[in-house]
Amino acid sequence: MIYDLLIIGGGPGGYTAAERAGAAGLKVALFEQNKLGGVCLNEGCIPSKALLNSAKLYNQARDSQVFGIKTSETSYDQSQVIKRKNKVVRMLVAGVKQKMKASGVEVIEAAARISGRDGDLFCLHDAFDKKYSGRNLIIATGSVPAIPPIPGLKEALASGFVVTNRGILDLTEIPSHLVVIGAGVIGLEMASYYRTVGSEVTVIEQQKKIAGETDPQISELLLRDLERKGIRFLLGAKVTNVGTDFVSYEQDGIIQELAADCVLCAVGRRPAVSDLGLETIGIAPENGAVGTDAQGRTNVPGVYAVGDVNGIWMLAHAAYREAEVAVNTILGREDKVSYLNCPSVIYTSPEVAWVGLTEAELEQAGKPYRKVELPFSYSGRYQAETEREASLCKLVLDEESMTLAGCQLMGPYASEFIVAVGIMIEQKLTLDEIKAQIFPHPTVAEVIREAIFML
Ligand code: NAD
Repeated sequence: MIYDLLIIGGGPGGYTAAERAGAAGLKVALFEQNKLGGVCLNEGCIPSKALLNSAKLYNQARDSQVFGIKTSETSYDQSQVIKRKNKVVRMLVAGVKQKMKASGVEVIEAAARISGRDGDLFCLHDAFDKKYSGRNLIIATGSVPAIPPIPGLKEALASGFVVTNRGILDLTEIPSHLVVIGAGVIGLEMASYYRTVGSEVTVIEQQKKIAGETDPQISELLLRDLERKGIRFLLGAKVTNVGTDFVSYEQDGIIQELAADCVLCAVGRRPAVSDLGLETIGIAPENGAVGTDAQGRTNVPGVYAVGDVNGIWMLAHAAYREAEVAVNTILGREDKVSYLNCPSVIYTSPEVAWVGLTEAELEQAGKPYRKVELPFSYSGRYQAETEREASLCKLVLDEESMTLAGCQLMGPYASEFIVAVGIMIEQKLTLDEIKAQIFPHPTVAEVIREAIFML
């Protein structure tokens, strides 16, 4: 059997490519060595949102007096939360399976290794040494947690004292003291979760700021809010050693020890390119990732890379779009990925979401710009629903084109309405055109409309 398309990896990039290609009539084989849905569905985006929502409800139940609700006792059942999270994951994985079936995709539940070429065809072997040949190949193998060379870390990972994104979502007991290494997206979301449900939490971050490349103002506001909620941050600190029940870190030249019940290592992820046989078809990863152009094409005609493995955005929603573009390219339809409107979200409480350029990036590029900063309290719905939450809506406008260049948000529903701003940026709507848009009232998103009229 000769396939039109072979896909390695059944995460958001791989299964979206399979679904679109199958629906377009291509003969597709999708290889997945673990579970369909990949990291996002099984041990990332979705399970973490199930946990974070339980924590949010718990918090609301405890702090509900001000809203006129009295509860006699509120307690948190982590094993029930994990059980429910597992149910959600099972349902969604089954949904992906169903989609594959409906699109006529053959799913092979085994690891695949590229074994070279046979004329124009690409050849793969599965774990049972069965050979598959295809005219096109999509590499969608995702990423794996980065494990820095810290003495004792490997042993502590093996003993379970240190966990990564997978283990932290399966703890059936709340640790009394959780140490988080890395104040990036995973670190902050999990610090926020475990603090809300009762852990003492310390975050060790080597940079002087949290949340990576976010706007410094948002990062500072988030830091202060999370500190107010009881999370301790050690910034400009580096872990130097991991023991059996402690970590050592160096800050300002002084080495100190911190006892912990559990440590989360969240220092980034790296593209999964090992043992794939890429070299057999002439692909050499650059900086550890499979390089692509805006159509997802690698240096080898007929071979594409989508999702985390290309090292571009490492976000599930970027992977969806990259997969669609790669399939359209295979089908001969003109398409290309634009990351202009690709939003980023951190699902802490409060949520942080941003899209486009930051003020610092505009300054660096020497572009004339205007900015406006508003708290979410400019929205009536926000006032009606919220008590004591830090918030910020920051818009930056490109003064040359009078179009929006970027938006940074911190506050409730930010993850849900950032997409609208992304579309305004992508479509290059002018200030006047945005002013003419009707926002539903009352919504928290109206803070954008308020801000627009102040630019
Ligand atoms: P990250 O790159 O977001 O953050 C890692 C942090 O660890 C950085 O701030 C870095 O300075 C710090 N760090 C690195 N080495 C360190 C050390 N030795 N000691 C102390 N600090 C150190 O990585 P992450 O949080 O692991 O997330 C991984 C990937 O998963 C990201 O690409 C992210 O986009 C994706 N993800 C996205 C979401 C989301 O969209 N909400 C959620 C989870 C994960």
